[in-house]
Amino acid sequence: MSVFGAYGVKDAASIIYYGLHALQHRGQEGAGIVTFNADGESYRKRGLGLVNEVFTQENISSLKGDMGIGNVRYANASKGGQDNLQPFFFHHHSGDFAIASEGSLVNSAQIVRYLEQRGSLFQSAMDCEILGHLIKKDSNKPRIYQISEALNMMEGSFAFLIMTRNRIYAARDKYGFKPLSIGKLGEGYVISSETCAFDIIGATFIRDIEPGEIVTIDHHGIRSMRFSQFQRRKMCAMDYIYLARPDSDIEGCNVHAYRKESGRRLYRECPCDADIVIGVPDSSLSAAMGYAEESGIPYEIGLVKSKYVGRTFIQPTQEMREKGVKMKLSAVRSIVGGKRVVMVDDSIVRGTTSLKIVKLLRDAGATEVHVRIASPRMTHPCFYGVDTSTEEELLCSHRTTEEACAVIGADSLGYLSYESTIAASGRQDMCLACFNGEYPTVLYKNKNK
Ligand code: AMP
Ligand code: SF4
Repeated sequence: MSVFGAYGVKDAASIIYYGLHALQHRGQEGAGIVTFNADGESYRKRGLGLVNEVFTQENISSLKGDMGIGNVRYANASKGGQDNLQPFFFHHHSGDFAIASEGSLVNSAQIVRYLEQRGSLFQSAMDCEILGHLIKKDSNKPRIYQISEALNMMEGSFAFLIMTRNRIYAARDKYGFKPLSIGKLGEGYVISSETCAFDIIGATFIRDIEPGEIVTIDHHGIRSMRFSQFQRRKMCAMDYIYLARPDSDIEGCNVHAYRKESGRRLYRECPCDADIVIGVPDSSLSAAMGYAEESGIPYEIGLVKSKYVGRTFIQPTQEMREKGVKMKLSAVRSIVGGKRVVMVDDSIVRGTTSLKIVKLLRDAGATEVHVRIASPRMTHPCFYGVDTSTEEELLCSHRTTEEACAVIGADSLGYLSYESTIAASGRQDMCLACFNGEYPTVLYKNKNK
């Protein structure tokens, strides 16, 4: 999932369209944009599908105004469908407002119960709707206090954009799980989950929003306030490893540079004697380059991916995923045939991809296939909004590395250490909970909404 907003930008909807398009890799199930014009009239369009399927030249031109927010969403089993598309729009006597979000709360069930006891009725299980109700639970206070109190009650990972008729508020959870950055575009501002969207629209990066910060953007410019004094730097490791685009910078570290460094470290930690190094397109290519550079083994294009199939993982059922993998990747026989191959991938979740690719490479004539993973063994589920599967389904949750290697049919298997996963970013800390089970937040009993 991801969010993009624009304030003080002429024809905001078309800028948001390009912004969301640049964020498409973070979700392909649905997209939406809400705008306000100078008279406070709202315009909305949401739909299932890719950004360029949901929006046409015509409907973008009908979304009027110089401010707006948008979202792209990926499906996970519990939250798919038309009703849960974002941004959410709320009518209220004190002024209409819209909310778009990324991430996932861990105490949503508790907050829903609290609000229901005070008379709220929910239409969805979405964090946006919960935030909308929480903000308005006490509508006599100034809005910024309503928002900051609401955010303070929320535990988990989030990046929220809240738009009223005259301003946009952008907030990040106090652990800083999810990236959110501000850019300047002409006289106006843009806010994006990833900085790659700024380059595409010609915006200049200003800064990242801090964990526990709310930034208000309006005709006064940018103002900042903390909704929490508690602050951690627990950026999601999977954002660096897999989710983000290589041309994005996350809290000062370029994603391609991170992946390349993780590949170098992977070679130092798990060396291998082989003829060629290949990566699994697209997210593992940087790590494979790093592995090749450090080892001196030639880097080759051993796998080719069809550009026209969405990410396999996005499709909800295992059966569909398996079909998807077949449609998507092919091994290049003239390159891998007769060779000892090191295949670098960014992560193993259920093992579906590795199993298929090892077979593809052997069928194409590879004599040995050594799998190297540029992240640690994934052993725990994520409760912060990244669809990494249940503990039972994770290949490594109940298997040793040797057992996992046998399941995927590789000649050898190696992972990156926790230390290198953090150190490759130059940071001191990040969330590694799906790898080590150390969840930064309290986990409430009813995590599965
Ligand atoms: P699997 O086939 O289940 O082992 O999934 C691992 C593959 O999916 C790797 O090649 C990753 O590039 C990709 N991947 C890892 N995490 C995710 C995620 N949260 N969503 C979609 N794809 C992912
Ligand atoms: Fe990211 Fe894993 Fe932490 Fe979830 S548990 S936020 S996927 S690092």
